[in-house]
Amino acid sequence: MSAAAEVRGRLTLRGEPGYEQARVGRVFNARKPDRYPAAVLEVADAEDVVAGVRLAIERGWAVSVRSGGHSWAAWSVRDEALLLDLGALRAIEYDDATGVVSAGPATMGALELAPFLTERGRAFPGGHCATVGIGGYLLQGGQGWNGRARGWACESIVAVDVVTADGEHLRADARQNSDLYWAARGAGPGFPGIVTRFHLQTYEAPKAMWHDTWSFHLDDAEAVIHWLHEVLPALDPRVEPVMAATRLPDIPLYEGVEHPGGTVLLLHATCMADSDDEAEALLAALGTCPVLGRELGHVTGPTTVAEESVAQTAQNPEGHRYAVDCAWTNASADVLAPLLLDIWRELDTDHSFSIWYGWAPTRQLPDMAFSVEGNVYVATYLIYTDEQDDALYRSRVHERTAAIARDGGVGVYLGDTDFTARQDRFLDPEHYARLEQIRAHRDPAGRIAGYLTADRDGLNVHA
Ligand SMILES: Cc1cc2nc3c(=O)[nH]c(=O)nc-3n(C[C@H](O)[C@H](O)[C@H](O)COP(=O)(O)OP(=O)(O)OC[C@H]3O[C@@H](n4cnc5c(N)ncnc54)[C@H](O)[C@@H]3O)c2cc1C
Repeated sequence: MSAAAEVRGRLTLRGEPGYEQARVGRVFNARKPDRYPAAVLEVADAEDVVAGVRLAIERGWAVSVRSGGHSWAAWSVRDEALLLDLGALRAIEYDDATGVVSAGPATMGALELAPFLTERGRAFPGGHCATVGIGGYLLQGGQGWNGRARGWACESIVAVDVVTADGEHLRADARQNSDLYWAARGAGPGFPGIVTRFHLQTYEAPKAMWHDTWSFHLDDAEAVIHWLHEVLPALDPRVEPVMAATRLPDIPLYEGVEHPGGTVLLLHATCMADSDDEAEALLAALGTCPVLGRELGHVTGPTTVAEESVAQTAQNPEGHRYAVDCAWTNASADVLAPLLLDIWRELDTDHSFSIWYGWAPTRQLPDMAFSVEGNVYVATYLIYTDEQDDALYRSRVHERTAAIARDGGVGVYLGDTDFTARQDRFLDPEHYARLEQIRAHRDPAGRIAGYLTADRDGLNVHA
């Protein structure tokens, strides 16, 4: 029997009706790529992934993978590959005895996993945006709620179920297939297999989650950046401070204060703690800003992941085109502030925004593929609707981010990259070499499409 006959999901070959929808219908970025898979298999279940890999072997196709479809650069859409769309793999199960939740890779972190766990009094460091799939998110690291205290989300993976490049379905954890378990925590699209299920350690839900949100004129940004660089290293890790240059009108404003128009600076910190009093006390560390009294507004109090997700969704609308880039940096405020202001002053569409995310102090990471982080994370999201603006916004975001990478930059977080436009280091060189060995051993024919890059030799080279 031919492998195609064993497939139970919907298989759409290039040229057949429904192909375009299957190719890019679930890609979040409205800037759809000019790449054309040989076929798309919307799998029926995990075993169908095995059938799909066998089909790809039979036809001589590479294999690409889609879980939630949120990769900015649409890594899942690859020329002449069989695209395995795992959208149906979203079942969630929880084991009360171990606190381990297992979930399919297309499960949406904040929209599906978080409420499921909240009902059970549990939590997991899911992504900030409601609809991101856990598949791509976890494989590349996972920067989620409470990340400074809880670490990268992938640190909470206890096992993965994987279909290998030769079609074997196996479990990888600390005891068996531990090379794949190591790679599943940070390799991102370079993972040499297809994860059909994640097994994740959950935690007792925090008793209190608070936010503390200040709005400032952009003219005060330099002072705020300098001050945050001073307080960050000693800031309790349960506090996550993010500065966002944003143009959305919905910001805290004191009564009688009008939005100044254009770009403003939000300082938005969240905190997970054991009580409301403790959360309030931890956030009080942000009450020492030198330009206090000049703020446009300030709101603090209890919040929830669900409420925060609403704001994230408003900032990241569907149906828009995105040009995105990021950099980890250990630069001083003196170096970084003018570079950030170059980006922030240039924002010129309603939804475009750019963040300074305080991550320090960095810590010794567990032994896993993920291995590059810095004191501060800078990411810029240029969001627009007109295809004619692609060249403008893409060159702008990558050139501006390259300037940050050049002066104190230590690399990138895979989740906000597009290596077809700008490459930088994402793994420690030794980790990258180990990953390459694992890939060569597990996928000698190079069946899994892997990193999407304009320059294969420049992969993981520090800019
Ligand atoms: C609006 C928005 C908000 C975001 N917010 C955050 C955030 O808060 N924190 C954060 O860390 N990131 C964030 N990201 C980045 C996001 O985590 C990455 O783009 C991630 O890759 C998306 O995962 P996905 O499964 O939805 O994407 P996909 O596009 O489906 O997957 C990306 C790639 O990962 C690999 N992959 C995915 N699933 C599997 C699998 N099961 N087996 C093998 N390989 C697989 C494949 O190479 C695939 O092409 C955000 C992205 C968007 C669009």
